[in-house]
Amino acid sequence: MDELQLFFSHSHYDHVLGLPFFEPLFDPRVAVTVWAGHLFGSMGAREMVHAFLNAPWTERNGHVDDLGVTFKDFEPGTLLDVGGGIRIKTAAINHPGGCVGYRIQFGGRAAAFVYDIEHMPGALDPVALDLMHGADLVVYDSAYDDSEMETFRNFGHSSWQQGIRLATVAGAKRLALFHHMPERTDLQLLEIEQKAKALLPTVFLARQGLAVRL
Ligand SMILES: [Zn+2]
Ligand SMILES: [Zn+2]
Repeated sequence: MDELQLFFSHSHYDHVLGLPFFEPLFDPRVAVTVWAGHLFGSMGAREMVHAFLNAPWTERNGHVDDLGVTFKDFEPGTLLDVGGGIRIKTAAINHPGGCVGYRIQFGGRAAAFVYDIEHMPGALDPVALDLMHGADLVVYDSAYDDSEMETFRNFGHSSWQQGIRLATVAGAKRLALFHHMPERTDLQLLEIEQKAKALLPTVFLARQGLAVRL
């Protein structure tokens, strides 16, 4: 049987809208485990997915328990042992409503997923640095340019320049700029990539369908 483990950073629409159309959830040949920690203590993964997969949001009207999915809740800060030698460090990161950053560790390699997160101007978030420390790959919330941060204060996001500052101090090997502002055109994003590469050659834009070998 195929096995799939799904980890929520959080449950804002821009991250979960595809869930009702994610075939493996409904495929009895796939053993799915869903992990969530951003609502720890107030709402479990099972309750959250059940609410989202039912009327009036979808045409489905079954109980999530009938899907045979396994749900696991964790408190952010917990080190998750997900089997197969894979260990995942988790941490609560600064985002309205709560969010979890992850550092996936396997075979001496590490990849850090740090989004959605807002940073304080002039400061390097120690939680972000800890997740990114020496990582082979960092995927970071690069929604804005530094010049836009003031306009979007308290929106819960960060800048590509902050990603570079953090990745540099953390000694991360590669940095993927992620969570692009939806209004940006491809051309604008390519310009950001060019400016970013001039500061840090190992940085690149996260793109749909991109696979990175560590
Ligand atoms: Zn969000
Ligand atoms: Zn988001």
